[in-house]
Amino acid sequence: MDKKDTGRTAVLLERVGRLINQEAHADGLQPVQWEALRYLDRANRFSRTAAALTAYLGLTKGTVSQTLKALEGKALIRKQQDKKDRRSNHLVLTARGRRQLDRDPLAATASALDSLPKPTQRALAAGLSEFLNSRLDAQQRQPFGQCSDCQYFARKHQDGNPHYCQLLKERLNAADSKAICFEQRPAD
Ligand code: SF4
Repeated sequence: MDKKDTGRTAVLLERVGRLINQEAHADGLQPVQWEALRYLDRANRFSRTAAALTAYLGLTKGTVSQTLKALEGKALIRKQQDKKDRRSNHLVLTARGRRQLDRDPLAATASALDSLPKPTQRALAAGLSEFLNSRLDAQQRQPFGQCSDCQYFARKHQDGNPHYCQLLKERLNAADSKAICFEQRPAD
């Protein structure tokens, strides 16, 4: 590919991003509010905090704080005090928040992707994932990848449930292994 081709690809990405963003003004929520709900649905228990969400979104603390306030006001999330550290709070999706995600406007994009031939779907997923990781890396931002792909993930460990995190020294179950994490570092 020459520079003209990559320039066209960049414009395609920009247009896809705009389409997704336009559809994300749905059900009385802003695109960033949907992103926060999706994040809380996918993040593991160590990562459901305002600080981790701020790093994930790459926005200012103030913007994220306003986003969380709006979601709390709509009773879609709630704060839960950490049992070990009373000064910190975890963010939890409420039952209403989970029902809201059943109407996620991003489902239209997932459905459109599903109608593409399987090899195209696989190539898109692999290419976009590689591209996103290289952009995040260039900006020194965390990848927030899946736990089972992390260098600290120990599958079926003797102290696990059945898996184990060698960084946080915590037991992990099957659902944890599929969640995304603030501390995730891709395995080589
Ligand atoms: S193994 Fe990695 S991704 Fe999983 S909880 Fe530990 S640090 Fe996070």
